[in-house]
Amino acid sequence: MTTEAERKMQFLFALRSRGVTDARVLHAMEQTDRLRFVTGLFAERAYEDMPLPISCGQTISQPSVVGLMTQALNVQPRDKVLEVGTGSGYQAAILSHLARRVYTVDRHRRLVRDAQAVFDELGLVNITSMTADGSHGVPEQAPFDKIIVTAAAEDPPGPLLAQLRPGGIMVLPVGQSDAVQSLIRVERTDEGYEYEELRAVRFVPLVEGLGQE
Ligand code: SAH
Repeated sequence: MTTEAERKMQFLFALRSRGVTDARVLHAMEQTDRLRFVTGLFAERAYEDMPLPISCGQTISQPSVVGLMTQALNVQPRDKVLEVGTGSGYQAAILSHLARRVYTVDRHRRLVRDAQAVFDELGLVNITSMTADGSHGVPEQAPFDKIIVTAAAEDPPGPLLAQLRPGGIMVLPVGQSDAVQSLIRVERTDEGYEYEELRAVRFVPLVEGLGQE
């Protein structure tokens, strides 16, 4: 029989073997129990490296992809980070251990409410969650040091590019929602934007407007 401690060890081992090597990211992921963000039938698979269904027809991302995206974002302790696509809240919780402040938005009110309840239980007081169409960003809190988008758009949304601080980094999947997408890293320089393609991924689509409850 596998104990919970063994399962967690295997979880971290799987992350490392899939390229999540940054010690601070691994530590933040070790501190963030994925089981808290998965409910119902799928709870027993919380420590497996696979995406799982959550409510509102959405998914909690695959842990190794969460790790690789967080690593590519190079979050620093003073950073103000925006996440578009709160979902279960798992990614935001990991970011909260690495950044000064995390703003996370989702178009589904119910997901935001459930994620906020977990943040409260875990005492993650540096996360602000909001129900909004995140493709417009959060202008009143801009600029951001880092932006992570966890739903796929065809192209990087203009308002998000504009809300990135010079020197800032954005990581997001781009491409058609029903095809394989590319995870890209955008760095804002004084002259413009530099794009780097990281790997193939598959995310739910970035959808305009608020979700129907
Ligand atoms: N980061 C999440 C996984 C997100 S799944 C986690 O750690 O669990 C993608 C999420 O993006 C979904 O919850 C979906 O509702 C949300 N989403 C899609 N389009 C959006 C938009 N325009 N604005 C905000 N959220 C959006």
